Amino acid sequence: LPPHDDLVIHNIRQLITSEPDLFNASDDAGRPLGIIEDACVAVSDGIIKWAGRQSDFDDSAFRDAGRIDAAGHVVLPGLVDAHTHAVFAGTREREYEMRVLGTAYMDIARQGGGINATVSAVRQASVDDLVSTGLKRLDAMVRKGTTTAEIKSGYGLSVEHEIKMLEAMRRLKEEAEVEVIPTFLGAHEFPPEYKDRRDRYVDIVCDEMIPAVAERRLAEFCDVFCEKGVFTASQSRRILSKGKDYGLKPKIHADEFAESGAALVAAEVGAVSAGHLGFASRVGLEAMREAGTVAVLLPGVSVGLGKLEFADARLMLDMGLDVAVATDFNPGSSMVDSLLVISSLACSFMKMTPAEVLLAMTKKAARAVSREAAIGSITAGKQADLVLFSIPDFRYIPYHFGGDMVRAVIKKGRVVFNRDAQEAS
Ligand SMILES: [Zn+2]
Repeated sequence: LPPHDDLVIHNIRQLITSEPDLFNASDDAGRPLGIIEDACVAVSDGIIKWAGRQSDFDDSAFRDAGRIDAAGHVVLPGLVDAHTHAVFAGTREREYEMRVLGTAYMDIARQGGGINATVSAVRQASVDDLVSTGLKRLDAMVRKGTTTAEIKSGYGLSVEHEIKMLEAMRRLKEEAEVEVIPTFLGAHEFPPEYKDRRDRYVDIVCDEMIPAVAERRLAEFCDVFCEKGVFTASQSRRILSKGKDYGLKPKIHADEFAESGAALVAAEVGAVSAGHLGFASRVGLEAMREAGTVAVLLPGVSVGLGKLEFADARLMLDMGLDVAVATDFNPGSSMVDSLLVISSLACSFMKMTPAEVLLAMTKKAARAVSREAAIGSITAGKQADLVLFSIPDFRYIPYHFGGDMVRAVIKKGRVVFNRDAQEAS
């Protein structure tokens, strides 16, 4: 694959545009994905200039462009992982074993494990440590088709260490092939030193952390873990409102283990997205739909925690909510970096169709990180983030779970992963 500025990707059997209006194919199941058959895409200066039927393509302006033969396979928009905690230190495989043997997640947390185990590891780590492990994780993600990832702080839980995590993300933004979107999550858990002074910790998040993060322009979003036993609905409302005052767009972890009114808080503060939602109330989901909050479903957590309980994706889709699906990549409950694996879980266990899942990892996921104008679909004017798969049909992605099917990844018009070149070298 040549390193040209201009690129034409031709001989695409199925071009998944994620723009339903562009649908031009024989198989109606691909309608929501806007599939174009026998397609080609032309890219210039990192931007998609043209996408459509190959027979309609006028290549006069692209005579000198680099060419990539998609070999009759499938091309998707770069995948967007809308919810991760991919910057962390230390791993927690022993806790995983404890859960396999029957100890509940919240009990492990009470015994000093859980999020606070990662907090002590992150507090001991330097920015360099966080950057070098973060780069490796992001490199693994790009090989699986992820071109954009939202990453949350929340393992520092003090002004100093939250800022340190976000500074690591700022460097990853410059150094990684995956585009990083930073979220401030100072309200991920109460640190041990504030275990019995919870409102005091909320004061610190609101009065010290949020202003410090905003002043340094380190984050785009502010998130809260609103859950029974963690941050209450009223504490969450306070934190997210304060974040908004400082220009941080609200996100929320909502109703993961129990219903705590978090979906309603999401709607009330106008959250861009709400994650988890396994126990969200119907009235909460309706309020989210009216507020335009994207539901971000995280089925990897159910697998990581060994529970066959999943959010009711069918209900949400049938209600007309925007549904995205993400990894929740984190060292505690969801140690998975592959959206491709997640696509299989979403189909098999949440009964989303392959088309709904791929839309949930592209266009809907872009909406969940406020990037829908730039990424998440393949249409003229959007950023040229593309994934070439060596598969015969889009349904093959969830069907072959864990399969090695990504052939090349293009970010902003540049080839950032090329399996063929690696095999040849
Ligand atoms: Zn999370």
